[in-house]
Amino acid sequence: MYNSKFKNSFAPAMAAVFTQKFPLKNELEKFRKKGKKIGFVPTMGALHQGHFSLLEKSKRDNDITVCSIFVNPTQFNNSKDYINYPRNPEADVKALQRYQIDLIFLPSSEEMYSVAEETLDFDAGKIAEIMEGKFRPGHFAGVASIVHKFLEIVNPDRAYFGQKDFQQYLLIRKLAKERNPNVEIVACPTTRNEAGLALSSRNQLLTREQQDAATAIYRTLTKAGEMVMAGRAIQEVKAWALQNLALDELLKPEYFEIVNAETLNDIKSKSEAEKILIAAAVRAGEIRLLDNIVLE
Ligand code: AMP
Repeated sequence: MYNSKFKNSFAPAMAAVFTQKFPLKNELEKFRKKGKKIGFVPTMGALHQGHFSLLEKSKRDNDITVCSIFVNPTQFNNSKDYINYPRNPEADVKALQRYQIDLIFLPSSEEMYSVAEETLDFDAGKIAEIMEGKFRPGHFAGVASIVHKFLEIVNPDRAYFGQKDFQQYLLIRKLAKERNPNVEIVACPTTRNEAGLALSSRNQLLTREQQDAATAIYRTLTKAGEMVMAGRAIQEVKAWALQNLALDELLKPEYFEIVNAETLNDIKSKSEAEKILIAAAVRAGEIRLLDNIVLE
C-alpha cells in the first residue's frame, strides 16, 4: 500500500506516501466519514516556495491536505521538455514531511493512464485556443485529463491552483464546474523571488545570466500594467512590451497579451474589461517562462 522505499527512508513517517490510487481513496474515505475537510494540491514536483504557499493555504482551510507529484506526459507537447523536466521526488517527500503534509500521492504513468495517450473529451473553448493553447498544441487537453483524473480519485472539498498559470486556472475552474461541481477551485497568488522572478521548477534549468535576464519579465508586466492604467492604447502597450523584452539578447518573447481576464477576449482599452490579464511567455534558451499580472 505505502511505497516502502519512501516509508523506510524517511522514518518516522509523518505523511503517508501512496503510489496507488485505490489505497489512497480508501484512506481518504476514512477521513471523509469522520467529517474531515480535504484540500488537494496537484504538482509536478521539484517543489519550491510557490508550491508551499498553496500547501499552506490548503492546511489553513482544511483538516487534511493531499499533495500529488506527477510529471504528466500528456501535457508536454515537446518530448525534450518532458525528459529534461526537473525531478527530485526524494527531496520533495522530505520537504512535504517537514511541512507536515498529511498525504502524498506519487503515482506512476501506468497508474494514471491505462492507454498512453488517452485524453478527456472536454471542450474548454476560447480558454484553450489562445496564448498557451496556441503555442502548446495539446497541452490543455493533457492538463484537463490529468486534473479530472486526480479530482475523481481525491474527491477533495477544495483544490488549489496558482495564478502564475492563469489560463490553466481558468480551464480547471470551467472543468470543475462542468465535471466535478463539488470541488471548490481556489486560486492562489504568484510567489516571486526578491528580484521579481516568478518561482518555477524550470528556473533551476536556467543559467545565472538567464535568471538575471528573466527578471525583466515581471518588470515589463508591471510597467505595462501602469501604462494600461494610465489609459494608453492596448496595442501600443503590447508593442512596447515585446520590444522591451527583446532588448535582452538572452530573452525571446513568444507572446505578450493584454485581454479580458474572465473571457480572454481581446480588448482595445482598459474600459473594455473590469479585470484585465497581462500575460507573457518568454524563452530563455530552451526554457519557456510564463508570468502574468491581473489588474482589477
Ligand atoms: P507545477 O508543479 O508547476 O505544475 O505547479 C503546481 C501548482 O503550483 C500549479 O497550480 C501552479 O500554478 C502552482 N505554482 C507554480 N509556481 C507557482 C508560483 N511561483 N506561485 C504560486 N503558485 C505556483
